[in-house]
Amino acid sequence: MREYEKTGVLSVDHLRLPSEEHLARGVAVIECVQDIPCNPCVDACPVQAISMENINAPPQMDYEACIGCGQCVAVCPGLAIFLVKVDDGRGWVTLPYEMLPVPGQGDQVTLVNREGEEVGRGTVTKVVKRRDTCVVTVEVPPALAMQVRAIRVKP
Ligand code: SF4
Ligand code: SF4
Repeated sequence: MREYEKTGVLSVDHLRLPSEEHLARGVAVIECVQDIPCNPCVDACPVQAISMENINAPPQMDYEACIGCGQCVAVCPGLAIFLVKVDDGRGWVTLPYEMLPVPGQGDQVTLVNREGEEVGRGTVTKVVKRRDTCVVTVEVPPALAMQVRAIRVKP
């Protein structure tokens, strides 16, 4: 059994990471590694950057093709896709958000890693409100861009 199957927590070691060039552009990082019958991410991508060998296989990302549009973030039922951008000494993570209250642009929020630990504070730079899954972009310290995978909004 793999470690994440015991703990439920992925680490970056389980992922094929984008290059610095890809991160400077901003690309989707897909953290979906198990064989499950699911593929809305594939259908949502306007440039076919996400592929699968079959409906049960984990998605494969083509970082070269990704245009960072974020369409896949909102449709993933596993909340497993994040846009990550690191450029010019600044970092941003765009993530799915299904809690209340929904933060607003400019709000300070607590940054949370894959283990659920609070790792710092960030500023919300964009919110796309949707009835089900909102998509929130938060500016983070660049060193935390591959760690932050959730936010906590404290009133
Ligand atoms: S961010 Fe857009 S272009 Fe990139 S994989 Fe997702 S849907 Fe495709
Ligand atoms: S939509 Fe999400 S959960 Fe489903 S295959 Fe794609 S990344 Fe995995």
